[in-house]
Amino acid sequence: MRVIVVGGGVVGCSVAWHLAPHATVVVLEAGAEPGAEATAQNAGMVRRMGEDPAERGLAIRTAEWLADAPPAFHAASRVTGAVLGLGHDKWHLHDAASHLRARGVEVHACDRPADLAPVLAGSDLPFAWWLPAERVADPAALVRGFLSAPVEVRVNTPVLSLARRAGRVVGVQTAQGVLEADAVVLAAGAWSGVLGQRALMPVRRSIAQTEPHDLATDEHPWVWLDDVGVYARPRDGAWLVSSCDEVPETPPVGPGSTGPASPEAMALTQARLSRWLPTLGTPALAQMWSGLRTFAADRRPMLGEDEDAPGLWWAAGLGGFGVTCCVGVGEVVAQGLLGAPVDYISHDWVRPSRPLPTRWPVRHSGAVHEARLAPAV
Ligand SMILES: Cc1cc2nc3c(=O)[nH]c(=O)nc-3n(C[C@H](O)[C@H](O)[C@H](O)COP(=O)(O)OP(=O)(O)OC[C@H]3O[C@@H](n4cnc5c(N)ncnc54)[C@H](O)[C@@H]3O)c2cc1C
Repeated sequence: MRVIVVGGGVVGCSVAWHLAPHATVVVLEAGAEPGAEATAQNAGMVRRMGEDPAERGLAIRTAEWLADAPPAFHAASRVTGAVLGLGHDKWHLHDAASHLRARGVEVHACDRPADLAPVLAGSDLPFAWWLPAERVADPAALVRGFLSAPVEVRVNTPVLSLARRAGRVVGVQTAQGVLEADAVVLAAGAWSGVLGQRALMPVRRSIAQTEPHDLATDEHPWVWLDDVGVYARPRDGAWLVSSCDEVPETPPVGPGSTGPASPEAMALTQARLSRWLPTLGTPALAQMWSGLRTFAADRRPMLGEDEDAPGLWWAAGLGGFGVTCCVGVGEVVAQGLLGAPVDYISHDWVRPSRPLPTRWPVRHSGAVHEARLAPAV
């Protein structure tokens, strides 16, 4: 079987890695190198405690695999522990806690979060979930690991459109001509919706790295205050911080999705850190940028064969959890293509042709309970 994977981000590379033992795989990447778009913009937190059961299923599988990964991936992730803090609604994520515990993941409820991690000292945060085995990942190292498989990667090769014959996708159109394949996997991140003609919405988020900070050690847990809308993750002796803002960016996007940070989002980040993580105060920001997280309207990934376009397989809509779920996504799509579907998520939850709302919930302020509907696109 010959498979073309469109997009050399962490998701496309994972699909390629999982298919490599069974198929001839060609990854077509529009950019000059793999992994330079959302894969290079993110905070690298592997977060199993998400809101959605499909996302959690993929995340649990990914974390389990990373814990016992092949040697090519040994530098790609490590355990730090994580604090999922709640400033307003201590009942948020109880269903997620039950799901994770049923799958053997250690989750503790904590009424004194200030004791959990040095960066929380002095905080009056009333509640947190503590996950001692949570990880961070290095997306560039994941991409290198996935591409250690025998797959062909062609950079500077944008796919212009899908090639169709008799209602079936039979390959892709490039500037060099049509490349045919038995299956095409669409893993083009923010560009997937336009190429595959399904509604996905890229949403821009701003993020920053602080000046070096004493508490930002490699072992320090990451801290994410879900219902406040702020996180802090130690990286390279500083903190990666964001107010979790979301600004819809209706297609077409790019080329190139990395943008400047929003000054309003950065001010909000500093205000929230100063309120909830007083040890950080109002940290000086050394670098700032923004990137795209791309969602379906129900915020679930789009995975598997397109019933309306046989031959086209989706690996898209990974929103803010593409690093968290990359191994599971690669496995789900590859196993589907090989006719041996996995049993840890329901295909119905993620199939591309599932009924979807026509308007998107967007969390402009970054707080989960402050979602508003974006106009239909
Ligand atoms: C600020 C920010 C913070 C985040 N934090 C986290 C986090 O902590 N944890 C987490 O799990 N996730 C996080 N994410 C989300 C995560 O980065 C994404 O879900 C993930 O990178 C998606 O990977 P991808 O491979 O689908 O997309 P991408 O990395 O965007 O890759 C898609 C690739 O397809 C290529 N491409 C596009 N169109 C074409 C074409 N026509 N032909 C050929 N190639 C094409 C692009 O050049 C690109 O390389 C964050 C995202 C952002 C922006």
